[in-house]
Amino acid sequence: MHPQLESYWGNVNPIGVRSCYDEGKRAAETLVMDYRRQYGTDTRVVRIFNTYGPRMAENDGRVVSNFIVQALRGKDLTVYGDGSQTRSFCYVDDLVRGIISLMASEYYMPINIGNDGEYTVLELAQMVLELTGKNSKIIHKPLPSDDPCKRRPDLTLARKELKYIPAMPVREGLAKTIEYFSQVIQTHPQS
Ligand code: UDP
Repeated sequence: MHPQLESYWGNVNPIGVRSCYDEGKRAAETLVMDYRRQYGTDTRVVRIFNTYGPRMAENDGRVVSNFIVQALRGKDLTVYGDGSQTRSFCYVDDLVRGIISLMASEYYMPINIGNDGEYTVLELAQMVLELTGKNSKIIHKPLPSDDPCKRRPDLTLARKELKYIPAMPVREGLAKTIEYFSQVIQTHPQS
């Protein structure tokens, strides 16, 4: 389903390489809702979409940190597949603000928090090259299996329940993240 609404129950491969991640999230929501029903626990369920920002781990493996670190180290940027798959990138401060609003509200059903601007992975690679001012090559590597080809949160519910609107434009958020990684790399040039 695109963009993804909270009411979508999901359709994921239960036995693939990515399944521990997908099914782990589903099982977590199940347990949280059972704790609420069985023990009256005061719970919230947030569906976090792709998030980035300062203090990500350099070797985290996710696309934003990979591209920035590769560009800053003068290495090729590794685009998996043809790079036409899309993601919606949320700056960490926006995510945290959304989660705090959710905790302060009474809303306990699943709710999307993210940013609904949508970019292809290739567009992201080009933005990182432009913002770092580096001229690394973009190379293509195999697309991991079960890699979703489109991903964007529908934020209607978050807007209604939490008055949540992501504030950080992706270029500005990337610039802050690049600044952070530049410092990390200067301090630890070999890692
Ligand atoms: N990706 C990529 N190069 C990388 C790391 C990731 O092209 O070095 C792609 C990956 O295949 C996916 C997208 O970027 O299509 C986002 O990947 P990430 O692991 O950051 O998040 P998720 O797959 O959980 O949305």
